[in-house]
Amino acid sequence: MRIFKTVAAMRDWAGTQRDAGRSIGFVPTMGALHRGHLSLIEPSTTERDRTVVSIFVNPTQFNRREDYDNYPDTLRRDVWDLLDTKTDVLFLPTPEEMYPDGQDGYDPPVSGLVTSIAEGVHRPGHFDGMQQVIERFLGIIQPSHIYMGFKDYQQWMIVEQLCAKRAPNTAVRVCPTVREDDGVALSSRNLRLSPVGRKRATVLIEALQMARESIGTEPFAELERQAMEHMRSQRGCEPEYFEIRDRHTLAEPAPDQVDDLVGLTACNVEGIRLIDCLVF
Ligand code: AMP
Repeated sequence: MRIFKTVAAMRDWAGTQRDAGRSIGFVPTMGALHRGHLSLIEPSTTERDRTVVSIFVNPTQFNRREDYDNYPDTLRRDVWDLLDTKTDVLFLPTPEEMYPDGQDGYDPPVSGLVTSIAEGVHRPGHFDGMQQVIERFLGIIQPSHIYMGFKDYQQWMIVEQLCAKRAPNTAVRVCPTVREDDGVALSSRNLRLSPVGRKRATVLIEALQMARESIGTEPFAELERQAMEHMRSQRGCEPEYFEIRDRHTLAEPAPDQVDDLVGLTACNVEGIRLIDCLVF
């Protein structure tokens, strides 16, 4: 596995691969790698000729400075984990490499419902920063495919639209959410939970499953209220939102809709912000 820290080296290598007719799979991450990340890398290494994994904690997508400063950093272990995969390149740029002209002035191509509900409401600016870094990566690497996790539901939807507009030669491959045995979605942020907090983090998937089982019995607003109530009833848990939406458009569902729904939720557990989703 090669490690590139400069955009120039990354760009050169990717160009050489494309010139030789090799397809590139790209897996963007913020590090603190876990089995969820590995579940994106694995299909890339079997489906594409070459695989690039990036580790970059992107400052422009954090709306809370403390969240950026406290983002887990386990680089040494991440490199060891990547050596056990068939990753060809680890791209490890600095913010200065990624944003040589500064971080301001980006005009994100994707807007509308997909960027403005749920995470869009609660993390203002997050999706603009996310689009900024993904568009920059796609320009440098020009992969045939970008591998994204289903868990970050709005994120992969936005990246699909971004590719259509700005990187039409890149397709998005969405991979299922990897969960612990108790249903908690793997997340780098779980590392910051105490053992008790980690157990309480089951409230997200419990709320999603409760809503899924009750679809059709009560109005959506009532199901959302009950899901919020369930999360709030657990000590140390402060839910931010619970939304049931049409899974394709993210519009509010028709009152009698029972299929093609997605539940989206964010909840702070011991002050750590966790998100999850489930299709119904
Ligand atoms: P992050 O490092 O959190 O920015 O995540 C990098 C990629 O891994 C994103 O596409 C995430 O959606 C994906 N990912 C994170 N957690 C999981 C998980 N539990 N299962 C599958 N993919 C995941």
